Amino acid sequence: MNAPWPRRPRLVAGNWKMNRTASEGAALAGELRALTAAAPRARIALCPPFTALAAVNAALAGTPLLLGGQNLHAEAAGAWTGEISGSMLAAAGCRFVIVGHSERRHGLGEDDALVARKLKAAQRDGLTPIVCVGETLLEREGDRTAEVLVRQVRACYEGLDADAARATVIAYEPVWAIGTGKVASPAEAADSHRLIRATLDRVVRPGLGAEIAILYGGSVNPGNAASLFASDEIDGALVGGASLEAASFWRIVAAAG
Ligand code: PEP
Repeated sequence: MNAPWPRRPRLVAGNWKMNRTASEGAALAGELRALTAAAPRARIALCPPFTALAAVNAALAGTPLLLGGQNLHAEAAGAWTGEISGSMLAAAGCRFVIVGHSERRHGLGEDDALVARKLKAAQRDGLTPIVCVGETLLEREGDRTAEVLVRQVRACYEGLDADAARATVIAYEPVWAIGTGKVASPAEAADSHRLIRATLDRVVRPGLGAEIAILYGGSVNPGNAASLFASDEIDGALVGGASLEAASFWRIVAAAG
């Protein structure tokens, strides 16, 4: 049984995407393990591909680093060839699972309803979902950022009680910033985080938005992390490319405090 998720913790999570074999992942986790003596304040999670979970979990044993999956199926079990359930992730040592990453929403056709089902499936199976939301470049340029964020948050959180909502993490990831080298400014990210919190207040319960950790994701690197983390609105980061090397990921972790 996982310890209860604290109120609005600082979290830096690495999303390795489709990179690193089991042995490469174990080596990267081993390098990070050696750095944990520096005892960072932020919680840290690694989300390797499914095939590397066991090896990374073994390499992280005895460290405070946490493990996460990158996706799960909404059903608990059954005839779903090629899919992975939340209970399988939990049994593999995962604390977290990413749901609604833009590469799945926009590249693999996941819609709001499916992301909402995955959030609930993750909680059913004892995982803390990292719920990704964010607008595309076309939506931002069309002045539709607010509409998109409100719709995505509403779809996931409507009907959740406050305890269930509090046991999630949100990652605001503008799609135009993911893997592009274009990072949202701290002010742009903070505006979106405020809107997400206000939506949670309306959809779940007044005041709830202030209790949920909202990470920023999109081209975070060691050079821009500190300025993002200086904003009170930004509780950490979901990091793709820069999480694939121990030194760059650790500099982001260190910037989080
Ligand atoms: C991500 O994959 O969630 C991400 C933010 O990627 P990158 O840091 O490479 O933009």
